Amino acid sequence: MPAYPHLFAPIDLGPLALSNRIVMGSMHTGLEETGAWDRVAAFYAERARGGAALMITGGMAPNREGGVFPGAAGLFTEADIAGHRRVTDAVHAEGGRIAMQILHAGRYAYGKECVAPSAVKAPIAPFMPQALDEDGIETQIADIATAAERARAAGYDGVEVMGSEGYLLNQFLAPRTNRRLDAWGGDAEQRMRLPVEVVRRVRAAIGPDMLLIYRISLIDLVPDGQSWPEIVALAHRIEAAGADVLNSGIGWHEARVPTIATSVPRAGFAWVTRKLMGQVGVPLIACNRINTPEVAEAVLAEGCADMVSMARPFLADSDFVAKARAGRGGEITPCIACNQACLDHTFAGKVASCLVNPRAGHETELNYTPAATPRPIAVVGAGPGGMMAAIVAARRGHDVTLFERAAHPGGQLDMARRIPGKEEFAGLMDWFEGELARTGVALRTGTAPDAEMLADFDEVVIATGVRPRDPELPGQDGAHVHAYTDVLRGGAEVGGRVAIIGAGGVGFDVATFLAQDGPSPTLDAAAWRREWGVTDPQTARAGLAPEGPAPAPPARMITLMQRRADKPGRGLGKTTGWIHRAGLRMKGVRMLGGVTYERISPEGVYITRDGAAELIAADTVVLCTGQEPARALADALIAAGRTPHVIGGAHIAAELDAKRAIDEGARLAARL
Ligand code: NAP
Ligand code: SF4
Repeated sequence: MPAYPHLFAPIDLGPLALSNRIVMGSMHTGLEETGAWDRVAAFYAERARGGAALMITGGMAPNREGGVFPGAAGLFTEADIAGHRRVTDAVHAEGGRIAMQILHAGRYAYGKECVAPSAVKAPIAPFMPQALDEDGIETQIADIATAAERARAAGYDGVEVMGSEGYLLNQFLAPRTNRRLDAWGGDAEQRMRLPVEVVRRVRAAIGPDMLLIYRISLIDLVPDGQSWPEIVALAHRIEAAGADVLNSGIGWHEARVPTIATSVPRAGFAWVTRKLMGQVGVPLIACNRINTPEVAEAVLAEGCADMVSMARPFLADSDFVAKARAGRGGEITPCIACNQACLDHTFAGKVASCLVNPRAGHETELNYTPAATPRPIAVVGAGPGGMMAAIVAARRGHDVTLFERAAHPGGQLDMARRIPGKEEFAGLMDWFEGELARTGVALRTGTAPDAEMLADFDEVVIATGVRPRDPELPGQDGAHVHAYTDVLRGGAEVGGRVAIIGAGGVGFDVATFLAQDGPSPTLDAAAWRREWGVTDPQTARAGLAPEGPAPAPPARMITLMQRRADKPGRGLGKTTGWIHRAGLRMKGVRMLGGVTYERISPEGVYITRDGAAELIAADTVVLCTGQEPARALADALIAAGRTPHVIGGAHIAAELDAKRAIDEGARLAARL
């Protein structure tokens, strides 16, 4: 019996029969927009080789006004088919299957030309959309059908019609955005008309033998979203109009509820898909925060869905399916749902990659080929950068020794994993430790080598990381003042009133850590839903609890401060910063910008703000004032005439995060 019997049970979807139940969900990679179709083809081919039964491309615009941003990729003309054909050929050569997602962004399109059912601006978009007239509606439907026809000509095995996440079709469905009084709006029946007509026309365009997936919004999570009876009725209509499979959509992009971030419980929305099970005749796909074969298997075993979709986990490890099939699930590089190198890159106009796998999106230029001459290599510092450097060097055949001063590897990851909502970092640490062993890296913990001990190594990689910056504040030597490292590692005693100096990522983490009383809601799905005000869509329209978010009371009274005048948290991740800020607001954390620290005293921190003096009363003061490179060893080696490779925080501490450290480690080791 395979390790994951439900996952590896074949399934017949009508036009396509698949050998397993795992779909690689749609992700915007940004590769298509580069025009380098060899890179797009390499990206998907690698994942087909890794065993994904079916992959869905990033959303392709059916026309210019429907593109998520100006220049977004699509299938606008016959000439666009050739690039896509290279992708489908490459996937088929690996025995894979691939469907193209058609995404019309509607009012989410970043451009003045954006269109929508009604002229109602999205809170997350700067442009007021034009309300479509009857001809405009027909144009959108025809363009979507034509894109589907071109997808067929490009060799795709199917299409997915994007009907969720608050995009155009979803906008027609919800009273929130559809204020029309004609035949395309009004009651629920008429609001459904456009998505149903789209599916009918797409089916007519592609014929009966090509897969048609419809991504249906099962819980809008926005006020005036759809009711559950409306969603069930829509599912029936979509099935009747010709869809073979329904994929789950969870929440609009403008929803104030996290849906895919790392603090969302694993498989935290599979229960919504389960509600539709047995109500339609076509298979259902569950998604969101499914990131290990165990979680995916449980979703199927518990009857939540017929298939599971994972997207980001395929950035983290293109061999996810092959490893799971071989019973080597523990070897899968875990997606920690951080969004740092994937979605945050997309929003910054960069190619999506992955924090834990820098090769993702760079398959044609970053490869770990066998070393011409295996050599003894020392890596000093077993934080994420050092571990990645050691693993890649060892995979390439080098004889690698990894030194770590502490008793365990992990570095900053060991602190991150303690933050409520960042539990995924623990799995990443486990993977690193396992991979060090699997690749044969000699790990020497409790050892801080000096230049002499490193004399016999051909190459030395210094990944000694960072040390907390000393802010040199008057009074900071008080017994109630602690560096964040002492707080997060559990040694320091922390009172009921806390002042945090420094509101970068670490300040936010420390505030989250100290505000939480009891177990993290990320590990308790019911508590998490209460905290964010999510409820059964059958009892409340769009799944929003009438009473709103009901967070557990905070464990402490916390003030988080920075000197910069802007709002604390501005520099946090584009797609996750709002969640951290909202989380702390819910816990009553006071966040202050524009602070001048006068002195720390036993009563707290004396500050000046807006010209006024203030005492931030505190039993404990925590310093989260950034870091400086820990590079004493690098300097000693250089003084001794060696030329070490210095990476990560030891190289540049500013804006160091695990993404940069891992990327630098991997890229260096690929060259050694
Ligand atoms: P950081 O982002 O540089 O923040 C340091 C904080 O300390 C700032 O608020 C800074 O604000 C303050 N500060 C700096 N020098 C100071 C001084 N001499 N006296 C008083 N205050 C001072 O560093 P970090 O918070 O340690 O984070 C390090 C890296 O890890 C960052 O790249 C961060 O993005 C990343 N990280 C991210 C997350 C996340 O959730 N995304 C979590 C943890 C860490 P002012 O100068 O305005 O006072
Ligand atoms: Fe997952 Fe983070 Fe990688 Fe994105 S960057 S795929 S969220 S681990």
